Amino acid sequence: MNREDLANLIFPTITKTIADYEKMYPERNLENEAKVTRFAPSPTGFMHIGHFMPTLINYVLAKQSNGIFYLRNEDTDSSREVDGAVSYIRHVFSHYHIKPDEYEYKDLNETKGLYAPYIQSERKEIYQTFIKYLIQEGKAYPCFLTPEEIDSIREGQAKDKRRIGIYGRYAKYRDLPVEEAMKRIKKGEVYTIRLKSSGDFNRKFKFNDLAFGEMELPENDLDIPIMKSKDGLPTYHFAHLVDDHLMHTTHVVRGQEWLSSVPIHYELFKTFGFKMPKYIHIPLILKKDGESIRKISKRLDPEAKMSYYEEKGYPYLAVIEAVMTIANSNYEAWREGHPTEPYTNFPFSPKKMSASGALFDLDKLDNISKNIISRMTKEEVYEGVLNWSKEYDIEFYNLLIKYKDYSMLIYNIEREQKKPRKDYTYYSEIKEKTWYMYDEYFKDATITFASPIQQVKTILEEYKTIYQEEDLQEQWFTKIKELCTKLNYATDMKAYKENPEKYLGSIVDVTNIIRVALTSLTTTPDLYSIMKILGKEKVLARIEKILVK
Ligand code: GLU
Repeated sequence: MNREDLANLIFPTITKTIADYEKMYPERNLENEAKVTRFAPSPTGFMHIGHFMPTLINYVLAKQSNGIFYLRNEDTDSSREVDGAVSYIRHVFSHYHIKPDEYEYKDLNETKGLYAPYIQSERKEIYQTFIKYLIQEGKAYPCFLTPEEIDSIREGQAKDKRRIGIYGRYAKYRDLPVEEAMKRIKKGEVYTIRLKSSGDFNRKFKFNDLAFGEMELPENDLDIPIMKSKDGLPTYHFAHLVDDHLMHTTHVVRGQEWLSSVPIHYELFKTFGFKMPKYIHIPLILKKDGESIRKISKRLDPEAKMSYYEEKGYPYLAVIEAVMTIANSNYEAWREGHPTEPYTNFPFSPKKMSASGALFDLDKLDNISKNIISRMTKEEVYEGVLNWSKEYDIEFYNLLIKYKDYSMLIYNIEREQKKPRKDYTYYSEIKEKTWYMYDEYFKDATITFASPIQQVKTILEEYKTIYQEEDLQEQWFTKIKELCTKLNYATDMKAYKENPEKYLGSIVDVTNIIRVALTSLTTTPDLYSIMKILGKEKVLARIEKILVK
């Protein structure tokens, strides 16, 4: 009995070799500098900002080097799988216009790319081929420790303040004779496959993370499980090794929380003699919380979830810009110099990431978003708010459909000018800022004036007689001034301030009365523009409503 027999006993149906798979998935035919990157989520939760930032960086690195960005579904732990997690990623990708070059969407029966399958649960045979090889080589072994035994080992280690894990003398089945192992397997004993680690925890190796720089890490000496007993699927560590090797990943960009797994990954690559990809670990995303700064939290911070940005209705590019700004310290300066270039052209440098964490600031995002919306055409704003309302406010959506051109005129107020008005931060705010333009909402408005109602009525009566829809702004303003003079309201603010008792009020009171009558609000964008858009019928009806009160 030798290791070959053991390997065949465990994997009787595995007949291919590693070389077969390497032939099936040959080197990619790409330009020299091209980067192959991936987003490799485990579908155990919904995509959050801590996934989004690495995704963007992966995407940017691939795009600007004419490389490949692919999506790999790391679903080897079915017990932790969350329904809809993958379709949500697809949704986020499409919302942010991120197009993976290779992917597999099982529910849509859609696969793109020559390195498929891209779903780990569909690659079992491939992983088992690699594991079989390790067993043949004596670099992996079946381990018969029960979950209870493992728990008690851990408890003992914790009590004795020792490192937790299966290593050294805790790796009880590491040197079990092949015959003995085969006997147990034949008897039907449950086992996992563990790596027979060759590392020494007291020895260090040099590791160069492109973001965190060069570091010395202790070698791995844990006999980590590489295949689970339950379903014969590999563990994440092992699957990632096989996949990044066969899919020819050049750069692994992932969250900082994976930095501590590097010794395991380093050992796995070394064991097979495979070239390790380059690693870029992304620093934590931080936020200000009162006076202190802490890690952004899915539990505490709504903005940690990607759904937050869609619900608020930030233009997708605003979120991307905000994240790029914290990803690289020189992004903002680059953007100033390249205002219209796609963000994917930004020469991202992992060295320019701050290892201590990236501070995400919602005020900054708001600012970016305001600027982006202010530079949009009225058609773009309309489309943005329409798409948003379709999801989140169907009543408003229906109004927008009904009053398409009308709504665009509203968004165009003070837009086509050198310094456009920056009044919208996100789409969900647009209704709050424009509702009074629609009779359907205006009919319920509460209208209160600062001036006595008799004065209000006198002004509105008079205004009704002079108002001509087709008046140009200048003509309109001249008429307002004439109205003021006639009714004893000052047109000259200086004169008014000097002798307020001489007048009933000033031109500001007059325009405000008109403004409130027409909108119920004391501050609005340009009143003349508002009247132009409302049109004669609405203007007169709204005035009439006050007069008959
Ligand atoms: N599946 C891992 C995760 O859920 C990916 C880690 C990696 O990118 O290597 O985050």
